[in-house]
Amino acid sequence: MTVPTLTLNDGKTIPQLGFGVFKVDPEETERIVTDALEVGYRHIDTAAVYGNEEGVGKAIAKSGIARDELFVTTKLWNDRHGAEESKRALGESLEKLGLDHVDLYLIHWPTPANDNSVETWEAFPGYRDQGLTTSIGVSNFDHRFLPEILDTGIIPAVDQIECHPQFQQVDTRPLLAENDIRIEAWGPLGQGNVDYASTVIGEIAAAHEKSWAQAIIRWHLQKGHILFPKSNNRDRMEQNFDVFDFELSDSEMASIDALENGGRVSADPAEVN
Ligand code: NDP
Repeated sequence: MTVPTLTLNDGKTIPQLGFGVFKVDPEETERIVTDALEVGYRHIDTAAVYGNEEGVGKAIAKSGIARDELFVTTKLWNDRHGAEESKRALGESLEKLGLDHVDLYLIHWPTPANDNSVETWEAFPGYRDQGLTTSIGVSNFDHRFLPEILDTGIIPAVDQIECHPQFQQVDTRPLLAENDIRIEAWGPLGQGNVDYASTVIGEIAAAHEKSWAQAIIRWHLQKGHILFPKSNNRDRMEQNFDVFDFELSDSEMASIDALENGGRVSADPAEVN
């Protein structure tokens, strides 16, 4: 089983399937990320606000896996925007992770009430130039927030954004495609809050003798999304990684595409500050 690697618009590469640690208890993170690395995941997605960067760092250190075989993402939290403050925040994240650089650093949310995401974004290429991060990107910048970022002329490598079959970011996708910005799909399984097994996904999964979650992961992969489903459970981690021995047909892809109904399961970026 080989995880495909995608090339970003800055020429760097990223494993298309990774492991996310949102809501992974900081006390349990080292064990859970150790499990994920043992299963075979080499791409870990964390964030300062998850409070578990130290656990991620400990698991990485203990694993003995070479740094250049791993892809680690973290994110700048909302109360650390601004050029000076974001630099301090990145330094703190690196210290907690026990790393001298991350592979990808993201602005976590646009936070319209702060109205300084552009100033913050303009500081990000400096972090790349200083070797503190290999690639830079944004998260939760949909069609309402992306234009001011693009106006800076600094094009994010990725936009990490809520994306799953019933909420596919139809308004934002054209802008991302035009600028060759990869979608990182967060909540790729609908955060477990949508009964996808009872939709056509259940039938498609059964036809391939796979689970509904595996069918959705396959849909994301074939759409070209980067994703990192989260699971505290080793069996489900293994299941979510076991998705490279089957393929959805064009018509199966189209019937999953047709589940789009605007059904966001989590926060609207316009309301997160
Ligand atoms: P997911 O869509 O990955 O869903 C996680 C939920 O699905 C958990 O409750 C998990 O339960 C369950 N689950 C996982 N695998 C299976 C399976 N095979 N069968 C049945 N249930 C399963 O949601 P996340 O919100 O965690 O998104 C993934 C990652 O995206 C995050 O961990 C984080 O890294 C990132 N993210 C980023 C955000 C942002 O603002 N940038 C916001 C939210 C997430 P269990 O653990 O019990 O298996």
